[in-house]
Amino acid sequence: MRIFLLVLIAITAQAESLQDRTHRYFIDLIKLNTSNAPGNETLVANYIQAELKKEGIASELLGNDPNRLNIVARLKNVGPNRPLLMMAHSDVVPVEPKLWTVPAFDAVQKDVFIYGRGAVDTKALLAAEMAILVELKNTRLNRDIIFLSEADEEAGSTGIQWLIRNAWDKIDAEFCLNEAGARAMTDDGAEVFQIQTSEKVPTRVILVARGSAGHGSLPRKDNAVAHLSDAISKLTKAYMPVQLNTTTRRYFTELAKLDEYKWLQPLLPKLEANANEIGDRDSELDAQFRTTVSPTMLRAGMKVNVIPNQAEAQLDVRRLPGETKEEVYARFRKIINDPAIEVLPEPGQDMPATEPSALTTDLYKAIETTIKKQNPKAAVIPYMSRGATDGAFLRAKGMAVYGVPVFTRDDKPGRAHGNDERIRETTLREGAALLLKIVEAIAKQTVPTTN
Ligand SMILES: [Zn+2]
Repeated sequence: MRIFLLVLIAITAQAESLQDRTHRYFIDLIKLNTSNAPGNETLVANYIQAELKKEGIASELLGNDPNRLNIVARLKNVGPNRPLLMMAHSDVVPVEPKLWTVPAFDAVQKDVFIYGRGAVDTKALLAAEMAILVELKNTRLNRDIIFLSEADEEAGSTGIQWLIRNAWDKIDAEFCLNEAGARAMTDDGAEVFQIQTSEKVPTRVILVARGSAGHGSLPRKDNAVAHLSDAISKLTKAYMPVQLNTTTRRYFTELAKLDEYKWLQPLLPKLEANANEIGDRDSELDAQFRTTVSPTMLRAGMKVNVIPNQAEAQLDVRRLPGETKEEVYARFRKIINDPAIEVLPEPGQDMPATEPSALTTDLYKAIETTIKKQNPKAAVIPYMSRGATDGAFLRAKGMAVYGVPVFTRDDKPGRAHGNDERIRETTLREGAALLLKIVEAIAKQTVPTTN
């Protein structure tokens, strides 16, 4: 009996399915606390290296900070095509433990969900990509598959930038599968898969109002606080110019085919002209049309009876990739139209602004076809994410990058970066299986790609 059991265990261990493997890696990865700052992503890099080594897959730890290493592994193949890159970041945003109902790094399972920081953003993807690498290690493919787990996506993007500067040949690929795809149900049950092909560019802006200091008992026309609040009000009420790109144009066309968005259909022929009407009705759609402004921080004054000579606001501006920063600053100055207000860029490093990745590459088509084959009724739509990812740095290098929509989001609004971040166990498993099909579809092609 004991021998039988041992044999059974041995067989089971050998035949760990893609889904079981993804699940196991996922739990382990959640338990490695890579809150950024400080990150400590080397915890993840070491874990991945050890797991891949067990499978006979060599990997390399890369980077200049020993605590914040990236890891790259490659399945070599003989085919003529350029490589596919599968990437996911290894860091997560910090947690406020008091606001969580479960510990954030224990991978607690409650009902059908697994909770943990990174469950959505983006350790599920990381685990699935690892498992797929293992799954395909003995498969004959026609292009190399590169796996990359990169550090510091949530703060300075130092991981990807270091790799681009110092190890480009190790990650250079024809195209890349990355985070930020979105898979969700509409209220009436239609399934929507959004492939991220483009992203808005975070462009932080500081408004500084200057006036004269004085006693609060004597109101002044040049009160800095009053000028600042006028400026904020003008900016947030203004309709910013509408600009569509290849992705957003297709996004509206495809979305209008869904029952929930049927109301868009009569507005489609003159989309730009109808943008304000559409945007007023749906703020998510509005953000696809234009650069947006959210005032988020204020600083002024030290005592209620003292008029301060300066007041400051910080704005979270998400710029359309087709606009330059300078165009945005110039427009803000024009809208505010007040010499007492200075519009300043927040110091710090810029994310690149790039054209959307093409909707005609073999990878885009493979994602679309694979999803449609599995879900014939689903809508598969390209989209521009409001949030930024490290994919922007690769797009700026000319690589086509796609945020792949494989994991269903249950929560509206999503819990990425929020409290009680969680993923449904079944979507973790189904998502990994779908991602494998996509990777197989692109990496088993026999016709040389033309893009
Ligand atoms: Zn992320």
